[in-house]
Parts: sequence; structure tokens; C-alpha cells
Amino acid sequence: MKASTDFITEIKGYKLWLRREDQFGEGITGNKYRKLKYNILQLKKNNNLTGLITFGGAFSNHLYATALAGKIHGIKTFGIVRGEEWRSKITDNPTLTNCLDYGMKLLFVSRNIYKQKHTSAFWDLINFSPKNLYIIPEGGTNDLAIKGTSEMLQEEDCKYESLCCPVGTGGTIAGILKNFNPKQKVIGFSSLNHQGLKKDVNKLIYPVQWELINDYTFGGYAKTKPELISFINNFKKKYSIQLDPIYTGKMLFGIFDKIKKGKWVWGKNILIFHTGGLQSIEGFNQRQYQKGLKCTLI
Ligand SMILES: *Cc1c(COP(=O)(O)O)cnc(C)c1O
Repeated sequence: MKASTDFITEIKGYKLWLRREDQFGEGITGNKYRKLKYNILQLKKNNNLTGLITFGGAFSNHLYATALAGKIHGIKTFGIVRGEEWRSKITDNPTLTNCLDYGMKLLFVSRNIYKQKHTSAFWDLINFSPKNLYIIPEGGTNDLAIKGTSEMLQEEDCKYESLCCPVGTGGTIAGILKNFNPKQKVIGFSSLNHQGLKKDVNKLIYPVQWELINDYTFGGYAKTKPELISFINNFKKKYSIQLDPIYTGKMLFGIFDKIKKGKWVWGKNILIFHTGGLQSIEGFNQRQYQKGLKCTLI
């Protein structure tokens, strides 16, 4: 089984194809399916493990996917959620509500304590022992995740001159960078403002040549602007494909913008990875309404 590829459009002689990872997976979809796949297999192989624990923000695609994976595979899941205030607002939050429905046990921690999740003191601070639990980092990026995302590339993909992918923690683009043909250009679109992002990604793999575009973060992670929202809505009307507002929408906006401004320098045949993330739309619209903004995703 392979994810399908849709031809989107041709602009100024540049041809855009979309790899539909958003429709591919086993119940879970998108890059989070790829990232969890080998981690779940590893967990199942170890009889001493009783479940899995991971971390995320209150609207996290990774928390959602992990909870769903737990339900599908009969694995007990724990999610450490950034922000204690969410404890009393679960029903207002579609992502957390789904996580609970899928059987995930949620542990809410303050932003300050959450920052210390990489330290050994963390578990004492939250008074919880992860003993016998398989620990997956925030965003799901580890070596087994990269093994999974490297399978996004298909043999025929060497016919494309450039490969585009959104970047959060970098586990997804790291998989592409493990498997691409050195004649190809790999272009990552940053979804957040983080100075050391490229360096951090290069630590995940044997460093190779690739581009990181930082011009389309729209103010930072989960930040937005009306022109991004109208771009995503127009894209849906025109091509009948839903983009998410955190990752794929920003990337596609960036690709169209660079081509239209004559600044695309990475070849004529462009393969773009639609990494999914559509569960975030409901929560995104809710936050827009709560801020009194009428601009939402259709
Ligand atoms: C998590 C996510 C990303 C970012 O993936 P990283 O491996 O963290 O870089 C990109 N797109 C979507 C839709 C995601 O949910």
C-alpha cells in the first residue's frame, strides 16, 4: 500500500503534486501515523511495558494520534498536557475530548513544569512514575519515528526535482533526508520561529544539503493571519483539498508565493507532502471565535 499522489496545478511552468499522507495510514493518518508505526511495534515486542506516555499542547496532533493509536492497538496511553488550566476545560477542547474518548489518561502540568520534561526531576515534580511505560517525546520524534517517515518516499519519487515538507520538530523531514536522491532538492517550511531549527534537524540524521524556509511562519507556532485563512479556504474551493492551518497551509502558501514572485529556484516538478493534521481545524476555529475573530476555516 502506498499513499496516493494528486496533481494540483501548474503555475508559470512549475508543476505541483501533492502526496496524500493525510489520507494514508491505519486509522491514524498523516505523518503522525508514520512516526508512531515502529514505536508501536517496538512497544508490543516488550512484554514488560504496560503502556505508553507522551507529551503535547492542548491541541496537539501528536497527542490525538497517540490516543487513537492506543485505542486501535489496545495500548494504555497517558498524555502529559501543557497548561494546568485545561484540566477544567476538557469539554471545550475537541482534541482533548477526543483523546479522552480514545481512552487516554490526561495529566495536566503547568507550563513551567512542562519545560522541565527532559530532566529526571520532572517525574517527581508531577508525582508520577513512568515505570514500565514506553516514553515518546513531544511531537513524537525519535529514531523509530524517522525510520517511519523515511517510508513516505516512494521509488518513483526520484522523478521530482524538489520535495517539500512542513517542519515542526523535524522528524518528518529527517525521514525524507534519509532517503532522497542527492540530485533532488529538499525544502522544509518552518511552522515556528526557532533560530536553531535547522541545526536541531541536522542532529537527527547524517547531515546533508537541504533548505529551510523561515518566511511563512505567520508569526509563530499556531499563529495565523487572515490571508493564510483565506488561502486555505480558497485552496479547498479550487482543488477540493483541505489543508491544516498550522503546517500544510503555511507550506502551500509559501510555495505559491515563491513561485508567483519568481523566487522559486528548486526545479519545475515539485512533490509536496500533505502531512495531515486536520483534527486541529475544529479547535482552531473555536479559538478564532473566542478571540472574537470572524475569520475561520470552512
Ligand atoms: C506534527 C506535524 C508536522 C511536523 O512534523 P515534525 O516531524 O515535528 O517536523 C507537520 N505536519 C503536520 C500536519 C503535523 O501534524
